Amino acid sequence: MAKELYHLIGGNKVKGTSGRFADVSNPATGEVSARVPLASTEEVDSAVKTAMAAFPGWAATPTPKRAAVLFAMRQLVTENIGTLAEMIGQEHGKTLEDARGEIQRGIDVLEFACGIPHLMKGELSTNVGGDIDTFSIREPLGVVGGITPFNFPVMIPCWMGVMAVAYGNAFINKPSERDPSSAMYLGELWQQAGLPDGVWTVLNGDKEAVDGLLHHPDVPAISFVGSTTVGEYVYQTGTANNKRVQSFCGAKNHMIIMPDANMDQAADALMGAGYGSAGERCMAISVAVPVGEQAAAEIVKRLIPRVQSLRIGPYNDPEADMGPLITTQAKDRVEGYIAKGVEEGAELLVDGRGTSLQGYENGFFTGGTLFDKVTTDMTIYKDEIFGPVLSVARAKDFDEAVAMVNGHEYANGVAIFTQDGDAARTFSNQVDVGMIGVNVPIPVPMAFHHFGGSKRSKFGDTQMHGPQSVNFFTKMKTVSARWPSGIREGAQFTMPTNR
Ligand code: NAD
Repeated sequence: MAKELYHLIGGNKVKGTSGRFADVSNPATGEVSARVPLASTEEVDSAVKTAMAAFPGWAATPTPKRAAVLFAMRQLVTENIGTLAEMIGQEHGKTLEDARGEIQRGIDVLEFACGIPHLMKGELSTNVGGDIDTFSIREPLGVVGGITPFNFPVMIPCWMGVMAVAYGNAFINKPSERDPSSAMYLGELWQQAGLPDGVWTVLNGDKEAVDGLLHHPDVPAISFVGSTTVGEYVYQTGTANNKRVQSFCGAKNHMIIMPDANMDQAADALMGAGYGSAGERCMAISVAVPVGEQAAAEIVKRLIPRVQSLRIGPYNDPEADMGPLITTQAKDRVEGYIAKGVEEGAELLVDGRGTSLQGYENGFFTGGTLFDKVTTDMTIYKDEIFGPVLSVARAKDFDEAVAMVNGHEYANGVAIFTQDGDAARTFSNQVDVGMIGVNVPIPVPMAFHHFGGSKRSKFGDTQMHGPQSVNFFTKMKTVSARWPSGIREGAQFTMPTNR
């Protein structure tokens, strides 16, 4: 029988009481491995109360002491990377190496956050008026919610939660109900690292839990990562309830291949960025845009054999380039898009449908798929497919390629492959996209820089991690103080100035 998962509240493993559960499956075998409780509004309330009780003590903990917990957590995640990767592989399906890569990206955030005393520094101006000094201080917000997607079950809770607790908040992670185990284990590691009970909560659930956080009067901020439909809803509902909200959402990332690009390098880059993690990455490249007929012919010629020879397997197959999709519904959705592409007239060069692996016949596998002659009016161009499907959409010149990028509703990442610095610089200036790669296919910034898209790939104006994260997870107070205090000016009824 499938094991029953729990919530992590106040340092305790707490059984779900709503009576509602979701199945968690191993995507390689199709077997249900666990059932995860789905929190009710009452359970959300209880988790928030526990987190609220833990918040003041943690907020008052000196920043070097908070940093010591972060150092310990960095060490624990590093030591447990194998266990975490195994959990991700079993529930998400990505290969172990890929899982280790995402955990390393989470460790990068922990390393950045170890410098928290520096990030919390305020501002000071002395003698702004008669013996008056003005200084600003940063304070944590309280209990903040973090709603995370299935595709990076460790990295994304780290993106937001590590920074949230580093700044002194209590954090409630609501992981994806499709692969919650690694996020729960992360919560347990925080306890071992010395984070006080209640500062990091893992509350499992679905829409009801998310709504519970969005409407809770004691949750002042929500960080969300997931699809655009849900992210827009979270942003609108949260801000309507006067919360601070940041939503990082869906994508359709283009890679421009200029005629002077090294075509072998570009083709290899497209393979990793298009098919790694079975295309289930918000920074995956899903549209290749060769500029000119010669570049199109060169890139397509190289892609076909590479896509045909993609190695597909379960997460623990060291030879596999990519694993299965997350659910059978995801497989149906992706294969539905492939049918739609054919119906709308795109040229199907490699068809990943009907992929079956010996011994894994019930797995949710779809093979690598390649389309050519995709046009901007087609559904497979407009929608985020979130699977191993790469579309070649040819552009006649550089301006048309830029217009395609800027014409799309999504604007998370984009890349250009070229040997021409002028073209790369002009491109970087002209595209309205959050993250740009020049000869870098997946330009996910390091933890000490900022992550975030533009247009319908992000709602809210703050970025993920990097120094700017302080703006999302803290509020500022500004103090004007006069010392010595004995000066008497008499009552002053006009607006005070320093002149
Ligand atoms: P999703 O939107 O289905 O789920 C995200 C979270 O929202 C989960 O915790 C889920 O339980 C919750 N949720 C789902 N439906 C909800 C509803 N109706 N109301 C309230 N909450 C709901 O996303 P997913 O399928 O888990 O993840 C894939 C999506 O995430 C893709 O669109 C991908 O591009 C996007 N993503 C974006 C980024 C980024 O940084 N921009 C990063 C990773 C993933």
